[in-house]
Amino acid sequence: MKFRSLQSRITALYSLTFGLVMVLVAVAMQQAIAASADAKVRSELVASAAVIDRLWSMRERELQGVATPLALDFGFREAVATDDDATIRSALGNLASRINLPKAFVVRYDGRVVGMRPEDDASYDEALWDELDSGWQSGALSIGGKTHQAVAAEINTPALIGWLVIGREIDAHMNDLTANSAIPVDASVIRRAANGGWVFDASGRPVTQPQITALLADMPTTATRLNQREARRAGDAMVLARPLGTSHGVVTTALMLEFSLSEALAEYDYLKYAVLLAGLAGLVLMAAASMRLAKHIVRPIAALEQAARALEHGERTDLMVVSDDEIGKLTHSFNAMSAGIAQREARIRHMAYHDALTDMPNRLQLGEHVDAVLAGLAERGGQAALLCLDLDNFKIVNDTLGHLVGDAMIKQVGDRVTGVCEGHFVARTGGDEFCVVVTGADAESLAKALIASLNQPLIVAGHTVRAGASIGLARYPDDGLTADDLLRQADLALHAAKAAGRGRCHRFTADLDAEANRRRAVETDLHRALANGEFELYFQPLFDLTHNRFSAFEALIRWNHPERGLVGPGEFIAVAEETGLIVPIGEWVLKEACHQAQTWPETLRVAVNFSTVQFQMPGLTGVVFQALATSGLAADRLEVEITESLFLESSGAILDTLHKLKTIGVRIALDDFGTGFSSLSYLRRFPFDKIKIDRSFILELLSEKEASAVVKAITDLAAALDMETTAEGVEELEQVEALRAFGCTNVQGYLFSEPVPAGEVLPMLEAAAARRAA
Ligand code: C2E
Ligand code: MG
Ligand code: MG
Repeated sequence: MKFRSLQSRITALYSLTFGLVMVLVAVAMQQAIAASADAKVRSELVASAAVIDRLWSMRERELQGVATPLALDFGFREAVATDDDATIRSALGNLASRINLPKAFVVRYDGRVVGMRPEDDASYDEALWDELDSGWQSGALSIGGKTHQAVAAEINTPALIGWLVIGREIDAHMNDLTANSAIPVDASVIRRAANGGWVFDASGRPVTQPQITALLADMPTTATRLNQREARRAGDAMVLARPLGTSHGVVTTALMLEFSLSEALAEYDYLKYAVLLAGLAGLVLMAAASMRLAKHIVRPIAALEQAARALEHGERTDLMVVSDDEIGKLTHSFNAMSAGIAQREARIRHMAYHDALTDMPNRLQLGEHVDAVLAGLAERGGQAALLCLDLDNFKIVNDTLGHLVGDAMIKQVGDRVTGVCEGHFVARTGGDEFCVVVTGADAESLAKALIASLNQPLIVAGHTVRAGASIGLARYPDDGLTADDLLRQADLALHAAKAAGRGRCHRFTADLDAEANRRRAVETDLHRALANGEFELYFQPLFDLTHNRFSAFEALIRWNHPERGLVGPGEFIAVAEETGLIVPIGEWVLKEACHQAQTWPETLRVAVNFSTVQFQMPGLTGVVFQALATSGLAADRLEVEITESLFLESSGAILDTLHKLKTIGVRIALDDFGTGFSSLSYLRRFPFDKIKIDRSFILELLSEKEASAVVKAITDLAAALDMETTAEGVEELEQVEALRAFGCTNVQGYLFSEPVPAGEVLPMLEAAAARRAA
């Protein structure tokens, strides 16, 4: 089993530790019990031995108390001296009747024994005599194969004539000896056998415990005081030996006391069982307690883990802090952390869904909101409208008054739009673009109210500005069913509103979509055209009224469309500008124009139209350098035509580029002057070489007085600023005369020539030269 969970590991660890401690305690206890039992048995044995010693000497005295008077008795002595065995036997008989079961006999000095019963063995007599002769007075004697406690008394007349010996069989009173012991002692008499070893007196069985031999070897013949050391361990028993009889100073008979240790230990068994039971109970308790503790630790950790996982999925739960310990602190920190995360997440979410400048919902939120609204409407039915609003004058304010004022203006406009559209969802979707989701209200009148409100002047940083607004309107479900569709349709409608002259609301119509589709088709086509070389340059001459000759040719792009035939720039330049394709197209036009012009007479320049978009890309100067270098055309033979829209961008980088081009000698012409803003400030901001007066003025030159006045004013101004002028779209001779009278320097138009393919430029020049010569 693997302890994978913290809870099981803690429980196992605690239980195991406790179990180990219990085993150690049990072992120590076992040792202590054994030691204590040992000591107890030892001292009991010693005490028993002391008691037995006392009893032994008491009995000895008793025996002596009987033997001594008889040995001193005159008649008895006389009987021994005279070999009167009958009297001796009678006296001994009397004695036997006085002391229970005595053995009594006389050993005469001559070695004869009187009074010994026939069944008693007399074979030891000689040994006994020796013993007696050397002064033996008391001890153990083997009489008839049985050991007796015996005493001897000298019989003197006065010379020593023998000894009176009386004894009592030991076995008979062994019980008396051991009965007084405090412990159940096994007592047995042992004696030395003929071979020197020890045998049990009663059975003759050899004593196998070597301890006994050792004990007896260093035991004093008479022990008055016993000490603990005299009891010895023998196997699982404790033994103690006491000398009973000696022969010539050597112990020949001894009492062996034995006590089984396992018996002594038995009384501790209950203690062992009690400890075992207590240990088991403790183990169960410990397991339960550690499980509880583990739960206490693990539960909050598991809760933390769960909360962390929930947090991972963006759900936040506050955990309850139930203690003030480490886990409590951890829980507390976790709560603080998750609150912090939630807070930051909310902030990030807010940032993701709001515009930083106005704090209004942004395009992302708008998309999700429209999705939600449409989903609701799809279910319940109903209508909604989307207004896309774009400021008309923001660019000018931003360019002329700076970004800070522009930002402040956007904020005020945001407030205004929100105010007018109260109750509707309003988002800022771009620089000066706002969107309103209109439900349950008339979108058109709301749009009108918005335009009216934004026509009211705003005071921004001390400046009075008029924001002005154009609005595109798309309706659900008529114009589109999805958020993407509606946003696109409203945007198309907004473009239409701008194209139609700004300051108005335009509703989306199907043709706008068709137009957009057409543009998309053109875009794909343009890519292909560029790759396949489907473009071609046509050239239209500019006639110099001062010198009465062609001064330049303007390069005008044509598209040899494989299906549609020759397509004019009006149909694709705008799309090319929107998609950025104008950059590579313009580069091709420039190279091709320079290349063609290089084949013309040196007096002729080539005019090339540049789009504002080209100026917005870095590196335009390099492109011009390269075109001039590779074609070998002199820089002053190239005339770059730009339109006023370039100045709407008004960036320093664009002016820089213009100046760089002018520095290397390239001429700069301002095309289509008089349309658009036609601010005279443009003429001050850059020293143009030429101003091209828009065809619309020439068209009305002869019929409208205002037109001729404008043309006159422009030519005068240009002359004053030392700039040339070219009148565009000259179709009639009278126009030429009028323009000449105004001081216009160049004319361009169908009167002289329509734009012609490159191959027709030189023939045209030759024809003109021929006409002049004629
Ligand atoms: P633009 O630069 O003002 O060119 C003059 C336009 O007026 C030309 O139209 C020309 O064909 C036309 N035009 C000239 N004389 C007369 C006239 O007597 N009567 C009438 N009705 N029209 C006349 P086109 O070629 O269609 O070019 C239109 C515009 O396309 C150009 O206006 C120019 O802005 C742009 N464009 C042409 N080629 C390029 C080009 O290579 N690059 C860029 N960026 N724009 C080009
Ligand atoms: Mg032009
Ligand atoms: Mg023009």
